Amino acid sequence: MPEAQVPMPHVMPTYGRLPVALARGEGCRVWDVQGKEYLDALSGIAVNTLGHAHPRLVAALQQQVATLIHTSNYYQVPLQEELAARLTRLSGLTNVFFCNSGLEANEGALKIARKYGHDVLGFDTPLTLVFEGAFHGRSLATLSATANPKVQAGFAPLVPGFVRVALNDLAAVEAAMDAHPQISAVFLETIQGEGGINPARIGFLQGLRKLCDARGVLLMLDEVQCGIGRTGQWFAHQWADIRPDVMPLAKGLGSGVPIGAIVCGPKAAGVLQAGNHGSTFGGNPLAMRAGVETIDIMEADGLVAHAAAMGERLTQRLRAGLAGQAGVVEIRGQGLMIGIELERPCGVLLQRALDARLLISVTADRVVRLLPALIVGPDEVDEMAARLLPLIQAFLQEQAA
Ligand code: PLP
Repeated sequence: MPEAQVPMPHVMPTYGRLPVALARGEGCRVWDVQGKEYLDALSGIAVNTLGHAHPRLVAALQQQVATLIHTSNYYQVPLQEELAARLTRLSGLTNVFFCNSGLEANEGALKIARKYGHDVLGFDTPLTLVFEGAFHGRSLATLSATANPKVQAGFAPLVPGFVRVALNDLAAVEAAMDAHPQISAVFLETIQGEGGINPARIGFLQGLRKLCDARGVLLMLDEVQCGIGRTGQWFAHQWADIRPDVMPLAKGLGSGVPIGAIVCGPKAAGVLQAGNHGSTFGGNPLAMRAGVETIDIMEADGLVAHAAAMGERLTQRLRAGLAGQAGVVEIRGQGLMIGIELERPCGVLLQRALDARLLISVTADRVVRLLPALIVGPDEVDEMAARLLPLIQAFLQEQAA
């Protein structure tokens, strides 16, 4: 039998990896190199929208690989238009720029914010309003927009031009806009992911929309983690019945194939012109086919409504299992983006879950995060809860002792 762990001495040590090497997957299950089966409640951190090895996606990607993987943005790429047409139809926005990851989508959004400030608002030093608890990526600009000191440590000087306030505090936003009249954009995750599954409240989002409209400022909603159907709407801000001016997407859009997109409405769509931005790989036919196929399968199979129903079921199971348990702060989220906040740091649960053959995440030290694939079935949801709940209960009892 192969060793459970595969040494990786030539790879840089940038991740704290769990001691397991995964070899293959099917639906919501994965198998390690020794053939042990795990239930996947993380889906590659909200990436594998259609689970693993979805037959229709596999067939489409095989066909695309055998036809054309990459050309260049020197030429027209018809599949870009196919995916952009779907994203604009589903969002009500107007135009899309394609890139390869979440941080790239956010980096492009931040460039739009600056250029909009210069070109449209006539500012010489445009600023972007960002929020406590935010995570936007690990490039220099996006880590500067991020609120986590661990992400920023060692990388000073940070990129200037950010003003930060508390999430869900509209008065603080208004005060910051008064104090900094050169704010050209407000930038936030509709539901904070890495920060611990912290939703921007519906009233807060609606208030931001009004404030931004009144002042001609861009509203930019990072839906890299919460977008693409995960919350039970195509985009999480649709729960608030508003539209952003700029919406970065990535993660679940390609169901595992690297992809990013900046989806813009009329105020922002014309800000970047030829020569202002670009990407060698961005929008290549393989990634575009993954995006088109992901959306088409989601629509054909009703996966957005399914995500809402399965999210409700999983949340109910978790609430029932943890009812009255001391040490649980809150169970929150929307659809299949669920956080269980505990009173104490609970990173040890990662290994214990692995031992129980369950893949989960712990974020912001104290929040168990579940992000199953949108194809997850009711029995799998019940099994996820059944494997997780005893681990949390035992952890809380140890802590109480
Ligand atoms: N924005 C949000 C909301 C994210 O959750 C993440 C990643 O977790 C990113 C941006 C960065 O995405 P990527 O890791 O693809 O650069």
